[in-house]
Amino acid sequence: MHNNNADLKNVRVRFAPSPTGSLHLGNTRTAIFNWLFARHTGGKFILRIEDTDKERSTPESVNVIMESLKWLGLDWDEGPDAGGDFGPYYQMQRLDKYKKYIDILIKRNMAYPCFCAPERLAEMRHQMQKQKLPPRYDGKCKNLSKEEIECLTSQGIKHVLRFRVPYTGVTEFNDLVHGKICIDNSVLDDFVIVKSNAGPTYNFACVVDDIEMKITHIIRGDDHISNTPKQIAIYKALCCNSPEFAHIPLILGHDKAKLSKRHGAASPLEYRDMGYLPQVLVNFLTLLGWAPGDNREIMSGDELIESFSIEKINDRNAVFDSQKLDWMNGVYIRKMPLEELVDIALEELKKAELIKDTEEVDVNKISKIVGLIQERLKKFSEIPQLINYFFDKPVYEEKPVRKFLKKDGVSQMLQELCKVIEEEEPFDIETLESAVREFIEKKGLKPGDVIHPIRVALTGRAASPPIFDVMEILGKQTCLKRIRRFCIY
Ligand code: GLU
Repeated sequence: MHNNNADLKNVRVRFAPSPTGSLHLGNTRTAIFNWLFARHTGGKFILRIEDTDKERSTPESVNVIMESLKWLGLDWDEGPDAGGDFGPYYQMQRLDKYKKYIDILIKRNMAYPCFCAPERLAEMRHQMQKQKLPPRYDGKCKNLSKEEIECLTSQGIKHVLRFRVPYTGVTEFNDLVHGKICIDNSVLDDFVIVKSNAGPTYNFACVVDDIEMKITHIIRGDDHISNTPKQIAIYKALCCNSPEFAHIPLILGHDKAKLSKRHGAASPLEYRDMGYLPQVLVNFLTLLGWAPGDNREIMSGDELIESFSIEKINDRNAVFDSQKLDWMNGVYIRKMPLEELVDIALEELKKAELIKDTEEVDVNKISKIVGLIQERLKKFSEIPQLINYFFDKPVYEEKPVRKFLKKDGVSQMLQELCKVIEEEEPFDIETLESAVREFIEKKGLKPGDVIHPIRVALTGRAASPPIFDVMEILGKQTCLKRIRRFCIY
């Protein structure tokens, strides 16, 4: 098998998205695997935009793809923006290059024009389906004479160009993930390589570009396995060696269906907006279908590059686990320097309008607050919700209010407690804690009888960071005001 270092010299891999929407997680992982392989081998990572589907390709989608890759830190050595010796890197700007290869195929009688009308092809497919046959072209235009072709062309009848597939034998290739794959050529079809609008199709343009761009390894999703025999047939017809193939298994949702929006899967930029770190997404997606061979799970970009190899890609489908992603993001957040987290928190608080853009912020205070939640934060978008009561009146949750504040004796107890709090100086964690503990003891109460009501009165909720830390940050006057609200019951 491939693990021969000689194979890994001058590695050139490409990520070749079709810009017809945003990136999904499967494609994102394909990009990551290609990038890791290039970086591991000291090779080149190329970004090629496969925009031959004119109707569905959009510049917005190209932007989203590039922004996503940049955010994830997947820098490309050649491609749009970066340039390179093998450009242009948009397929629609490479039409002249395809023309050269079309001429070769026609000269070798490996391609022929097909004048069949779309209605005829649709009817043919329909009939084949009715007979439970795989739908494929019936070869009507396969053997047209030169005169017939000229005659049809002169009448202005539109045509496509089909590749003449060798229907006998088998196509065999050694997939670096799945091992030997054999496909009986009788299942192939004389597929279209140039559309009636003269644009190349994916299978053809992809091969020409992979040849021209000197791609050594094609790492892409399993959903392309069925295209590989067609592409190998084109390589053969052009007398070129095909690159190595590595098809990576799909990512499935928890219900084992192909991962989709329904499973909460989103594009990288949506994960960014939800408050995930780019290095977490790279770490997490790499481990979906690849493992370093030891028990490591939290791995930096450099560690992933160092350990990555195609052999360790799992040949079975991976299951997406959003809880694990949250856990991993939490681990990274806990390791983050507090100042960095504070900067992010400030952005989130502004977005949530808890602080104004123009407001002068007390960074020291925000650091204290953020420090209180760093341990349990899973994603940045949770920040405003977790700490809003430091910036605004608490939103009181009905259940804890009923359970802890509207209980006999609580209002009386809080009134007495306020007297204690009022006298506390300095108003800091230690002083407060010992005063409140002393109060609890004197009253012969259980700690929960006092701590829970204080927490709910100050934060509006049943769970919060350590309450004396919260009190210190809120300050004496705010604490008294909030607690006194519940002394009237
Ligand atoms: N444009 C194809 C896609 O987005 C590329 C497949 C390939 O890597 O060959 O699926």
